[in-house]
Amino acid sequence: MLYLSTRGDQTPKQFCDILLEGLAPDGGLYLPASYPQVDAATLERWRTVYHTQGYAELAFEVLSLYIDDIPAADLRALCAKTYTVEVFGTGEIVPLRHLENGIWLEALSNGPTLAFKDMAMQLLGNLFEYELARRGETLNILGATSGDTGSAAEYAMRGKKGVRVFMTSPANRMSPFQQAQMFSLMDENIFNIAVDGVFDDCQDMVKAVSNDLEFKRKYKIGTVNSINWARLLAQVVYYFAGYFQATETNAQKVSFTVPSGNFGNVCAGHVARMMGLPIAKLVVATNENDVLDEFFKTGVYRVRTSADTHETSSPSMDISKASNFERFVFDLLGRDGARTKAFFGDALSRVGFFDLEAHPAFSQAAGKYGFESGKSTHADRLATIKDTWTRHGMMIDTHTADGVKVAREHLQAGVPMIVLETALPIKFAATIVEATGREPDRPARFEGIEALPKRVTHMAADAQAIQQFIAQHCA
Ligand SMILES: *Cc1c(COP(=O)(O)O)cnc(C)c1O
Repeated sequence: MLYLSTRGDQTPKQFCDILLEGLAPDGGLYLPASYPQVDAATLERWRTVYHTQGYAELAFEVLSLYIDDIPAADLRALCAKTYTVEVFGTGEIVPLRHLENGIWLEALSNGPTLAFKDMAMQLLGNLFEYELARRGETLNILGATSGDTGSAAEYAMRGKKGVRVFMTSPANRMSPFQQAQMFSLMDENIFNIAVDGVFDDCQDMVKAVSNDLEFKRKYKIGTVNSINWARLLAQVVYYFAGYFQATETNAQKVSFTVPSGNFGNVCAGHVARMMGLPIAKLVVATNENDVLDEFFKTGVYRVRTSADTHETSSPSMDISKASNFERFVFDLLGRDGARTKAFFGDALSRVGFFDLEAHPAFSQAAGKYGFESGKSTHADRLATIKDTWTRHGMMIDTHTADGVKVAREHLQAGVPMIVLETALPIKFAATIVEATGREPDRPARFEGIEALPKRVTHMAADAQAIQQFIAQHCA
């Protein structure tokens, strides 16, 4: 399988080349040259594989269609090492629970940091360690986080050979639970940096360092952000696993509702459907930051300014633009790299929006791609959390609540609707208490983490300071 850029660069790349790269050199995102097609016989076989051999083996089946530069035995071992009961808590890895008429919750947040990002990041950690060892190289991952991504990256990379993580976060802005999760890690290859400022200041520092090409090369600076194709690919697997749990036979269809921010999670659903998974609808659920809801309703994709980006009680969906969305638009435009470049490279930087309403691909989109969308507000979130708790005894987190609220508006008779559960409620306890008057359950392994010793360096929002810090710790 070869990979190409959404902005037209056709230089063929293999999986392990793009694994350690971020954007393509022309500024686009990598996609496979084509989507492997899963025929009826294969889908039947995969159903049996999942139910009899388990999630790791299903992951190997899906991944091996996209990765041909890692020997099969090694890839199988990497999947087996990643998707274990010890790390994800159950044999199903992504168990399905029934919520109410036709609505199911697929649990993606029982990994080390209690959010769905572990599903992909845990695999990425093992892939990085494998590939760096094979090349005899090292990598220093530099990132900025407002919560979930940074901790998922740290828990995936801790103790891994050849990798260090330098993770900036805005000082005192994360929830006490999130801070404790990250700062209590004592691994020598993990560096937490609390920056005096807000998330954008952290991101600016990371950008400044990445733009210093000499420094970047000398210190082998890399990233693990959500546009990494390997992360997206890992997420494709749980769409198949959710389907096999919700249906008896492959003649049935299901729909998915996905709480969305950067469009990474739901883009994996798009890929699964392009491969042939029988998906009726993919429903995009947003919070008050409704860039994506606006697009699917009007055809206009309009990025927001920082001032126009709301701080909400589902903070992992507080985005001003959806960084993975370009992949979907590339497919929507019939994989026309020049047009994709005109929209994402030119129009967005020039006027901040583009409009696909009049484009034939968009008017067909509902039929051709089957996307729908909806949005949820703080009041909706509270009402939904309270309702699922009082009526079903089920506590859901704020992001999943956005999903459930929107899913209820998009049900179709006879088609199971699977809502992806993207975090556990304990991560966002304050809002859960506001909604239900109760503290959410805390998994035993997180008892008392707020009191653990912390390992964190405080720093001014200054790119030079972090460059010095990296240089010191790479000596
Ligand atoms: C990251 C995140 C999301 C949004 O996922 P995208 O792939 O960015 O759309 C939703 N919920 C939680 C809890 C997250 O951490």
